[in-house]
Amino acid sequence: MAVREELLRNIRSVEPYVPGEQPQHKVVKLNTNENPYSPAPGVERVLKEMDTDRFRLYPDPTADELVGSLADYYGVGKDQVFVGVGSDDVISMCFLTFFNSDFPILFPDITYSFYKVWAELYRIPYHCPELDENFKIVKEDYYAENGGIIFPNPNAPTAIYEDLEFVEDILKQNRNSIVIVDEAYIDFAGRSAMELIDKYDNLIVTQTFSKARSMAGMRIGYAISNPDLIRCLNDVKYSFNSYTMNQTALACGVEAVEDKAYFEEGVRKIVETREWAKEELRKLGFVFPDTKANFIFARHPEVDANELFQALKENNIFVRHWNAPRIDQYLRITIGTREEMATLFDFLRTYIKEK
Ligand SMILES: *Cc1c(COP(=O)(O)O)cnc(C)c1O
Repeated sequence: MAVREELLRNIRSVEPYVPGEQPQHKVVKLNTNENPYSPAPGVERVLKEMDTDRFRLYPDPTADELVGSLADYYGVGKDQVFVGVGSDDVISMCFLTFFNSDFPILFPDITYSFYKVWAELYRIPYHCPELDENFKIVKEDYYAENGGIIFPNPNAPTAIYEDLEFVEDILKQNRNSIVIVDEAYIDFAGRSAMELIDKYDNLIVTQTFSKARSMAGMRIGYAISNPDLIRCLNDVKYSFNSYTMNQTALACGVEAVEDKAYFEEGVRKIVETREWAKEELRKLGFVFPDTKANFIFARHPEVDANELFQALKENNIFVRHWNAPRIDQYLRITIGTREEMATLFDFLRTYIKEK
């Protein structure tokens, strides 16, 4: 039965974010920037030792242990850390908390497509300055009056990293707006804007366990800022759902943070594979902005991206493609294991030769 127009009129209607596919059969999965390596070994141990009787009780609403681990890891106070169900949850809470101006918030035209969805969902006015022809953020575009700013660094899906001077310039030019730097990929890139937290009270840095920490399935993300802004975030969270993080995620998260050596080795392996993958793609004739993330945003001057995307998929190699203006000739390829990348390159060599 179709619902009547009169009824639909007062219902919130949004165009949702479209996540990358999660095929249930075995494929070479290079489409959602997941980590090809297992989480830290302590995560498996803590899961096996988990006392399920504890599931009778609500989890700790303050996520004190995980917040404490992250605070120690980054050398900040516990009152400077906010955790949530993936950084998607954290950033969504940030939109709701900090973006309440009549001026539009600013984020790049080519960036993480969830920003636009949250802006629409919460009815926040927004404006999207265009990246330049090299897909770089033009910082002067962010000098205009605004209701807040968000951008990923490295940006997604371009993988371009901007140094701290660039980030600091945007912070300085926007003393009266909240600036969120989404550092989902920072561990593969360079210095984090966390260094600037004590210097700029308008800065929020968000990070995630989904990429460098191999725990996309556990859904853990966090924001680091000053105690005042973190308090504002918590006030909104407690007005929404007090128990966002489940006990399992909290316990596993702590284990992942504690194993610094394992984490660093995992990042090193991916960066090494990435640098090799860049050479291989160049040899095959692909062009791409220099990547500092765990993915490469590449196009081939003689190959149609959508056709290649489909051909890869038919051969059980999944990458990401958007039928969107300016980027429809690009594929975003996650860095997998060396073996997975070799499978991709073998396919590409044959495909391009036959073109
Ligand atoms: C992956 C990603 C996120 C969200 O990751 P979660 O899994 O929700 O932590 C946020 N921002 C960008 C730019 C991402 O690529």
